[in-house]
Amino acid sequence: MAHAAGEGEGSGPSGRPRPPAIAEPRAFLRFAGRPRRPAIPERRAFLRFAAAAGGATLLSSCTGSDAPGTAGGTPANSAAGATTTGGANGAVPSAGASAASNPATYSGPARPADWAAVARDLSGPLVRPGEGDYATAKLLFDPRFDSLHPAGIAYCASPHDVATSVAFARRHGLPVAARCGGHSYAGWSSTRGLILDVTRMAGVSVSGGTAVIGAGTRLIDVYGGLAAHGRGVPGGSCPTVGIAGLTLGGGVGVVSRAYGLTSDNLLSLQIVTADGQVRTASPSRNPDLYWACRGGGGGNFGVVTSFTFRTHPVGEIILFFLSWPWSQASRVIAGWQSWAPHAPDALWSNLHLAAAPGGGTPSVEVGGTYLGSAGGAYAELEKLYAAVGSDPSSPYLESTSWLHAMLVEAGCAPWTVAECHLPTQNPAGRFMRASEYAKSDFFTRPLSSNGIGTLLSGVENLQLVSGAPGGGGGIAFDAMGGAVNRVAPGATAYVHRNALFQAQYTTGWTPGAASAGVANQRAWQRSFWRSMRPYASGQAYQNYIDPDLTNWRQAYYGANYARLKRVKGEYDPDRVFTFPQAI
Ligand SMILES: Cc1cc2nc3c(=O)[nH]c(=O)nc-3n(C[C@H](O)[C@H](O)[C@H](O)COP(=O)(O)OP(=O)(O)OC[C@H]3O[C@@H](n4cnc5c(N)ncnc54)[C@H](O)[C@@H]3O)c2cc1C
Repeated sequence: MAHAAGEGEGSGPSGRPRPPAIAEPRAFLRFAGRPRRPAIPERRAFLRFAAAAGGATLLSSCTGSDAPGTAGGTPANSAAGATTTGGANGAVPSAGASAASNPATYSGPARPADWAAVARDLSGPLVRPGEGDYATAKLLFDPRFDSLHPAGIAYCASPHDVATSVAFARRHGLPVAARCGGHSYAGWSSTRGLILDVTRMAGVSVSGGTAVIGAGTRLIDVYGGLAAHGRGVPGGSCPTVGIAGLTLGGGVGVVSRAYGLTSDNLLSLQIVTADGQVRTASPSRNPDLYWACRGGGGGNFGVVTSFTFRTHPVGEIILFFLSWPWSQASRVIAGWQSWAPHAPDALWSNLHLAAAPGGGTPSVEVGGTYLGSAGGAYAELEKLYAAVGSDPSSPYLESTSWLHAMLVEAGCAPWTVAECHLPTQNPAGRFMRASEYAKSDFFTRPLSSNGIGTLLSGVENLQLVSGAPGGGGGIAFDAMGGAVNRVAPGATAYVHRNALFQAQYTTGWTPGAASAGVANQRAWQRSFWRSMRPYASGQAYQNYIDPDLTNWRQAYYGANYARLKRVKGEYDPDRVFTFPQAI
C-alpha cells in the first residue's frame, strides 16, 4: 500500500513528520485511558525516517510535490457535498443508450462542431485543449504524466453522460479512458482521446448494513461518509485514490485481514458497457461481469457509475508504529514474516525497509492496526518482539476512532477530511501530488536467509545510487492471510489468495527533478526487483499496474485470465476499453 505524509506537530529536519517520543509499550499498558495523541507518523513515514537518516528528503507515495494540481478534478469539482447520481441498482437503459447501443458507425474524426454538439448533450462539463480548465483537468495524480494531452475530458455526471461520451468516442474513433482518482501507476486513466472522468458521480449513501458509493468518490470521502454512520469498508490508505480503480483491481487495506479486500465487500455495481447499456452486475444479474469486476482491473469492462458495498460497524481501533536499528533488520524481517501473516484476523501489519540515494543508514519499521483492546494488541506485539528477539527502539501505540485512524494512515492527521484533498479537489485541501515508480510481488513462502540477505542488499544498494533531489525508495510488505485468503482463488477475479504477504517496491523523488537521477533510481528499483525473483511467487498486484511486466496476464490474473477474456469478449467485443495491459 502506498501512504502519504501530513504536517505533523513533530516535523523532522526536512519539515516532514518524525516519530514522536512515545512511552515504551509497557508504559502504554499501564496507561488507563486514551493516550495523549502526539504527532503521529503515518505508515509510509518510514520512508521519511530513512530520509532523516540519509540527510535527504524522501517522498512518500501520496505527497511531496510543491506544485498543487488535480487528479481527476477541477476546482469546481469538489467531492465534498457531491451526491451520487448513478442510482443504486437499476439496470435501466440510459437515455443516451439509443445512440450508444448502435454505436459503431464511424463518421470520421470529430470536428469542432461535433465536440460542441456532444458538450451540449452532457450534463457535466466537457473540457477541451485551449480552455481555461484544461491545464488542470488533464492531470493525473503523478506529475510524471503531466505531458499527456487528451483531446477532451468529459466530466460525466450520470450514466447517461457516460453512454453519450462512449457513443461519441466510438463514432469518431477516439480512444477512451475512464478516470476516477487518477492514481494509475502507468497513467492509463489518461489517453490521447477522451477521458471519461467519473468524479461528478461521488457520494456515499448508507442504508442499514449497506452503502451505495458513487464511482467517483475518493477514499477519504468514502471513509468520512461511512464513519458518519458508524460504518466502514476495507480500503487503501492514500486518501485521493478513487474507489473505482481500487475496487476493480481488488483493494488492499489496513483491515483486509479482518474484512477482506474492498472488492470482497462489493454486493453489486452499476456499469455502462461499450454498447451504451447501463447494467447492474450482482450475483443474480450479469454474474460473470460481477465476478470480473472484483479484481479484473479497472478500465476493462465498461465504466462503473456506482458500487453497493457491505459495510462493517467501526469503533475504536489500535494503531501501532515500531522501529528497530538497521543492524537488527535481518531479525526483524525473519520475526515479522513468521508472525504477521499468521496473527489473528484482528491484527494487520506491514513492514517497511527504506533508504535514500547517498544516504546514511536505512530504516526498518513495522506498523499496523488491531481491532480490539490495547491489552490484546500488546499481547500480539509481545509475540513479535519475541520472534525478533528484541523490543523495538521506538514503539508507538494509540487507540483512536476509525476515521482518525484513516486520516493517520492517509498521512493527513491532524487535518480534517476536507483538508485531506488536493487543493484543486477541495478549497480546504492541503494534500500534494507525488511522483513515484512502483513494482510489486506476492510471497507465498517465507524468505530464506539468502532471501533476507538479498532483500537487505537491495535496500542498501540505493545508498550507492546517484539519485534525484528528494530521492528515496524501499520496499513495503503488507501482511496477507486472514479473510483475504479464505476466499477461493476462482471465486472472484482476484486470484492472489495464497500469499503470506505482498510487497511494493517504490522509488520517489521531488516532482520536476532532473531525469538522470530519476533514471538511476528506476534502474536500482528494477535491479532490486530482479534480485528477488528466486524468492517471490511470480504474481503481481494488478492495482500496482506495472508496464515493465511482459507476463502480466499470468502475474495479475493467473488461472482466472481465461474467464476474464470470455467476459471481455461478451461485454466489449470491439475492445472499446483498451490500454497496453487490458484484458
Ligand atoms: C499513491 C498511491 C497509493 C495507493 N495505495 C493503495 C492502497 O493502499 N491499497 C491498494 O489496494 N492500492 C493502492 N494503490 C493502487 C490503487 O488502488 C490503483 O492505482 C487504482 O487503480 C487507483 O484507482 P484510481 O481510481 O485512483 O485511479 P485511476 O487512474 O483513475 O484508474 C485506475 C484504472 O481504473 C480505471 N477506472 C477508473 N475509473 C473507472 C470506472 N469508473 N470504471 C471503470 N474503470 C475505471 C482507469 O481507466 C484505470 O485503468 C495506490 C496507488 C497510488 C498511486
